[in-house]
Amino acid sequence: MVPDCPKCGLHFEREEGFFLGALMINLAITMGALLAVWIIGFAVTLPDVPVVALAVAAGLTAALTPIMFYPFSKTLWCALDIMLRRSMGEQFGGDGAQPGFHSKA
Ligand SMILES: [Zn+2]
Repeated sequence: MVPDCPKCGLHFEREEGFFLGALMINLAITMGALLAVWIIGFAVTLPDVPVVALAVAAGLTAALTPIMFYPFSKTLWCALDIMLRRSMGEQFGGDGAQPGFHSKA
């Protein structure tokens, strides 16, 4: 991810630790995917559940989901941050000197 938006100049990492929210989103998505693998795996294969195969599938899900979803979680977190700051009355874009924006002029 580039540090600043190439169009409007928004600096994405507003402060130290800003992307902890993205980490939490990534964790939640990974937990959801793991739960889905186990539940769907059990539901489809009952009564003879292949526990080892399901464990391998869960392991792969646990390892690959956070890697594949990482860029999307950062984008999602930035979008949520902008949405929340907008709802609190902050203005974005234009020539306003907002915190986190670098002047492009
Ligand atoms: Zn932008």
